[in-house]
Amino acid sequence: MSDTTPSALSVQTIIGLEVHVQLATQSKLFCGCSTRYGQPPNTQTCPICQGLPGTLPVINQHAIELAIDVGLALDMELVSGCRWDRKHYFYPDLPKGYQTSQYDLPITRNGRLEFRDPANAATLLSVRINRAHLEEDAGKSLHGEGVDGGTWIDLNRTGTPLLEIVTEPDLRSAQDGKAFLQQLRTILLYIGVSDCNMQEGSMRIDANVNLRIDDGAQSIATPIVEIKNLNSFRNVERAIEFERDRQWQHWQATGEKLGQRPKQTRGWDADREVTTVQREKEEAADYRYFPCPDLPPVVLSAEQIAARRAKLPRLPQQWKADLISVWKLSDYDASVIVEQGRDVAEYFETVAQVSQDGKRSANWLTQEIMRLLNEQQRPISEFPISAQQMGELVAAVATNELDHARAREIFSLWLEQSLTLAEAKQRLGIAAISSDEVEQLVAEIVAQHQAAIDDYRQGKKQALGPLIAQAKKLNPNVSPAKFREALLRAVDGQ
Ligand SMILES: [Zn+2]
Repeated sequence: MSDTTPSALSVQTIIGLEVHVQLATQSKLFCGCSTRYGQPPNTQTCPICQGLPGTLPVINQHAIELAIDVGLALDMELVSGCRWDRKHYFYPDLPKGYQTSQYDLPITRNGRLEFRDPANAATLLSVRINRAHLEEDAGKSLHGEGVDGGTWIDLNRTGTPLLEIVTEPDLRSAQDGKAFLQQLRTILLYIGVSDCNMQEGSMRIDANVNLRIDDGAQSIATPIVEIKNLNSFRNVERAIEFERDRQWQHWQATGEKLGQRPKQTRGWDADREVTTVQREKEEAADYRYFPCPDLPPVVLSAEQIAARRAKLPRLPQQWKADLISVWKLSDYDASVIVEQGRDVAEYFETVAQVSQDGKRSANWLTQEIMRLLNEQQRPISEFPISAQQMGELVAAVATNELDHARAREIFSLWLEQSLTLAEAKQRLGIAAISSDEVEQLVAEIVAQHQAAIDDYRQGKKQALGPLIAQAKKLNPNVSPAKFREALLRAVDGQ
């Protein structure tokens, strides 16, 4: 855009996000049907989620608890007495003709989330969270999958609990939007409220985008466009960038301003990488919201909130602080581990506890284990070496029982076979070497390399290096550190 922007104009992209997160409950928001993904169509429905007359919804308490957890994690105000409202619209996958949602009294509101500026890692950016409200999901239209290629409706998803998290329009670039979403997803995964699986639709994003154009004398805004149902971070980023450029060109051609046309809804075509008009956006009045007469307000007691707070898992920022203070990791190493998710952070913590060596544990994890997992596209839960075993291996290196090369041999063997450390050492012929054997080896080396020893004594400290390598060749089980210690004793003592 900078190519076409006259220097007198300043143009800002204004972005607000609505993030729909499927809550990790076993059953739906108002009935006992399962929320499992990928089941045959219409096998997880009942009269309540089919919206049959005469049925009454019952609130799923676990969904309420998970919403409280999000409110606590994002430092939000929790609203006791929050209400349920009916949001009316007609669509084939919405059997009741309305979605049960929360309109003017959401369960939680007024929060804030900080994340690292993608353009400058040393800076934190902050986004205000307007609200997060509970609502039920709709069903799915299966286009072209019915008899004769017709459209069928699958109601398995109908009534699944969603939490819609709405930000203020505080974001200023597609990259910031992506970084914000990554941080939000990390937090939601750490507290376990959702699996945030974007392929399966457990996290879907709408982006509200417009431009603020300032020529120094006055500032105008372009009409707001809402891009619906973005299902990957890449799509969020690309769609916002496209929309920014499209609005800039449209404004140059028409001069159209905010207020001159209603909010427009557009969809993202990921193949063509363009947004296309879906509809001129309904205003809230078009949905004819009114309080749901079938559901009581949700009362949140101080005791209930305190109980959830006590059980709230450690947040990523707390994990990071702990890794730095307890295990003396660098800011960078701690960030890399924490950003991989709670399973990885827990794995690290066990390795460090068993080995009592945080730095070595972090090196093994970030350099060896993460590389393998990335290559194989596997989660750490499927890694063949347990954290306990890994801790024993790191401890053996930390105490000089094994040198790094031999530890790597054991590591490779463990990837193939499930063995204890003792079994692996036996298999590889790694025997414990006695101090007497070390002394004997030193005597042998000293006798054979008198010239190098003389060089060392005359101040060439590096002359001993090849001797250590030689000792290792004679006996692969010798620890270079122990041998070096014994060699120095022998050489300096003479
Ligand atoms: Zn049901």
